[in-house]
Amino acid sequence: MERLQKMLAHAGVASRRKSEQLILDGKVKVNGKVVTELGTKVSSTDTVEVDGVKLEKEQKVYHLLYKPRGIISAVTDDKGRQTVAELFPHIPERLFPVGRLDYDTSGLLIMTNDGDLSFTLTHPKFKIEKTYVARVKGIPGKEQLRILERGVELEDGKTAPAKVKLLSAESKQGGKAIIEITIHEGKNRQVRRMFDAIGFPVQKLKRERFAFLTLHGLNAGDSRELSSHEVKLLR
Ligand code: URA
Repeated sequence: MERLQKMLAHAGVASRRKSEQLILDGKVKVNGKVVTELGTKVSSTDTVEVDGVKLEKEQKVYHLLYKPRGIISAVTDDKGRQTVAELFPHIPERLFPVGRLDYDTSGLLIMTNDGDLSFTLTHPKFKIEKTYVARVKGIPGKEQLRILERGVELEDGKTAPAKVKLLSAESKQGGKAIIEITIHEGKNRQVRRMFDAIGFPVQKLKRERFAFLTLHGLNAGDSRELSSHEVKLLR
């Protein structure tokens, strides 16, 4: 027996949080009856429907994508923009991104139908490290980088301590700098907002690392399957 929202997440319907919402919204039926109780337990012999569609037991799949810029980290887009899910036309499972990268951000994005793993990897309490390389306008000094390291005040709270490294700087045309920053939170547009807060707007942003995973060997738009060992390490 398993809690209904967990089962939906396992089946790849959505993250656990989103699955809870589907239940509360009355969109889920167990053995033909609408269930809105979050604690409801179900077993593999129960028939579960979401929005009138019966759940099929799906294999879990895990892909590491080098997301190019100019693609949305979602499964559908009401503005008709290309989505990361569309980069996997050959994969029969319904893949969704683990967390998100902005439309203009490139880099490492895990795609899976495992709602449970996605929940773990995006929950702030698990503190998964993510490393970004940012090109910023202007050249921040040591003290400004220290502010980023210690945490900056954003409108939704202060950021946790970060690791920050100046990789290079060029003083031509007003100056620009390339900075590596490692954070373990996932606030919306966090890196861009952190640099905005110290007055050095991000011009280009790429996520190079997620936990121990890197983009090694991939070009923008490429993806590869994660090995079962890598999936085990992520859990
Ligand atoms: N921080 C950002 O500002 N954008 C991203 O896409 C990811 C982290």
